[in-house]
Amino acid sequence: MRKTYLFILSILISGACTNISDSGKNKEGKNDPAIPNAYFVNAILYNYFSAEYKALAYQAFNAASDHIELVKLKNPHRTDLAIVLDIDETILDNSPYQARLFELNTSYDSLWNTWCNMSQARPIPGSVEFLKLADSMGYHIFYITNRKEKHVLGGTLTNIQNAGFPQADSSHLLMRTADNSKESRRNKVRETYEIVMLVGDNIADLYEDTSNFVLRDKTVKMHKGEFGRRLIVLPNSIYGNWTESLNLKTQTQVDSLISIMTQPFTAN
Ligand SMILES: [Mg+2]
Repeated sequence: MRKTYLFILSILISGACTNISDSGKNKEGKNDPAIPNAYFVNAILYNYFSAEYKALAYQAFNAASDHIELVKLKNPHRTDLAIVLDIDETILDNSPYQARLFELNTSYDSLWNTWCNMSQARPIPGSVEFLKLADSMGYHIFYITNRKEKHVLGGTLTNIQNAGFPQADSSHLLMRTADNSKESRRNKVRETYEIVMLVGDNIADLYEDTSNFVLRDKTVKMHKGEFGRRLIVLPNSIYGNWTESLNLKTQTQVDSLISIMTQPFTAN
């Protein structure tokens, strides 16, 4: 297993560098094509339509509800307990936006601010009920998102308010201003509150993340006893730091990763 990890790491560190020059040409001298949008279609459809996605979301928020009840039982008089949640693909479903990118055969950013300011994203199944429970139990709720404050503050607030999320006001919404990392915003919350739960679809929503594939796996293993308890994860196979850790941008890199997976067929 360790040998496989080192092999994967060597590929990931170099990205497709062994095959791609600085000019973006592969070893055959051809332009390395970006991954076609069609590669993401199953992930997009899964998030929006599948019963399994909804079941996983309910599972996550049921576990979260059980945990905050337990924490409250152990700390009945504490008034400084907080829950921190990400927004996108954690409490709001942006798969219609992803579907629109697919339809237009374009990529992230081109429509993102427009979509956010439409305030039309639906709540992730189970999320509103969970946060209403947390609110009724006296937890402080903070929404930490990397949506950019200067572009989509109003649209985001309207969306989470219309969806019925509690404590959805500007004092509980910590958007991205300059720092991409969420840790500084979590620490800001920690100055006044104790964070007893973190909820997200990306490891960076839970603790300081890295783009190193091997370290990411190692850190998850270190925290394995906390998932479904203090740390709650929602599924997102469309995008996230996991794709960046795999340098998942070009066809050549996809081919490299697929060839790692098919080793059982090609060994010997
Ligand atoms: Mg997210």
